[in-house]
Amino acid sequence: MSYSHQVLTKLKEQYPVQKLFHQAVEEVLESLDLEFKKDSKYQKHSILERIVIPEREIHFRVTWIDDKGKVQVNRGYRIQFNSAIGPYKGGLRFHPSVNADVLKFLGFEQIFKNSLTTLAMGGGKGGSDFDPKGKSDGEIMRFCQAFMTELFRHIGANTDVPAGDIGVGGREIGYFFGQYKKLANQFDGVLTGKALHWGGSLVRTEATGYGCVYFAQEMLKERNQSLEGKTCLVSGSGNVAIYTIEKLQQFGAKPVSASDSKGMIYDESGIKLDILKEIKEIRRGSLEEYANEVKSAKYTSIKDYPKDSNPLWAIPCFAAFPSATENEINENDAKALLKNGCQCVSEGANMPSTIEAAHQFINAKICYGPGKAANAGGVAVSGLEMAQNASMHPWSFEVVDKKLHQIMESIFNSASQTAKEFGEPTNLVLGANIAGFRKVASAMIDQGI
Ligand code: NDP
Repeated sequence: MSYSHQVLTKLKEQYPVQKLFHQAVEEVLESLDLEFKKDSKYQKHSILERIVIPEREIHFRVTWIDDKGKVQVNRGYRIQFNSAIGPYKGGLRFHPSVNADVLKFLGFEQIFKNSLTTLAMGGGKGGSDFDPKGKSDGEIMRFCQAFMTELFRHIGANTDVPAGDIGVGGREIGYFFGQYKKLANQFDGVLTGKALHWGGSLVRTEATGYGCVYFAQEMLKERNQSLEGKTCLVSGSGNVAIYTIEKLQQFGAKPVSASDSKGMIYDESGIKLDILKEIKEIRRGSLEEYANEVKSAKYTSIKDYPKDSNPLWAIPCFAAFPSATENEINENDAKALLKNGCQCVSEGANMPSTIEAAHQFINAKICYGPGKAANAGGVAVSGLEMAQNASMHPWSFEVVDKKLHQIMESIFNSASQTAKEFGEPTNLVLGANIAGFRKVASAMIDQGI
């Protein structure tokens, strides 16, 4: 049994129910096997056994009072996974599905993603099983304050710097920061994704979506192709999806779809971004409203989806940008995309493809950018926000956007060069995993046991 297989087997025995975490680890270890054959130092220093266990897992109770005066209780988490190359860094997710498994998968991915950005950021993730849907603004504020009342003692501008993720956007970051400041009596860069007038960075809102399209552009450039005039599929309709659509349109592509937790829209004439933004960013409504307002759009409710596939991925396209959530593309979906001529998949969401789906893309040798590389633009601009906070000097939109573009280019180059080193030039999963791992593992070895 190979070194990585031994570690994975033990991990599955130790945490039998943490399936998403196993999946994230398995995907990375599959790639690392080749590196371990070349270099025995990792096994000698037990790097794998160490890297799969978080340095610290914090679980806490969050109690708050709803609008009816009733006491509500939720679970809060912060997984401080790895600080070998910088302070823990990663978002907070508010969704009923959040548990230690989800956050360990996300935190594990974050270690390698942050390493790929070339910035000094370790890996972390956190959140709560709190469901923000249908809550009043006052309830959201009280929940965020209660959450921060415990979290504040574990974070700091040089210790652990949380940001947003699903269910946590600019509004929530504002409430977190207000409470942190009250408790710590400090105004510093402890959170990223802040509003512009109190320490936020230009381009942070757009960064993940824009970065994901820049990454696709880099993959295609190598094959003398471009996005111009091409039909693209986007899933999700939150922060990542909206700014993916925006950048695709700026590049002359035609994004034709979006989805949310209730269903999907297909607008053959191209998504009307102003209407989508109004519904999702301002009204916080459902995509069904888009179909009611735009005649060219067709809405399909999730209740009418087939059991074993997602109809969004059956729409013919040149490129696909999954930007909603984990495992939203299964093997059937991947086959449908390939059959219909899809040439490029750039993952805005974290681990949106199952292992089987990812194998389909790798074997077909299409341009396939795994999430930890393709969606690293968000955390990269968070790193730039930290740099601006530390120097107390904000940069212009053009400066940050240029830096984001350069970082996405450099992530592509390092994943691509590493893939070439192993004789698999199109396998960016392999390249990104090994390139991200090498830096973190070397730092762990340098820093001793
Ligand atoms: P948002 O909360 O802004 O949006 C999430 C979108 O996905 C919403 O449209 C939501 O629908 C939809 N969605 C959520 N869960 C499901 C589900 N189970 N099935 C179908 N649709 C679902 O989150 P983000 O856009 O920030 O995050 C999207 C993905 O990108 C996540 O995987 C996240 O981890 C990843 N990511 C985000 C980064 C960021 O900077 N924000 C950085 C890197 C990765 P509804 O509107 O109904 O809630």
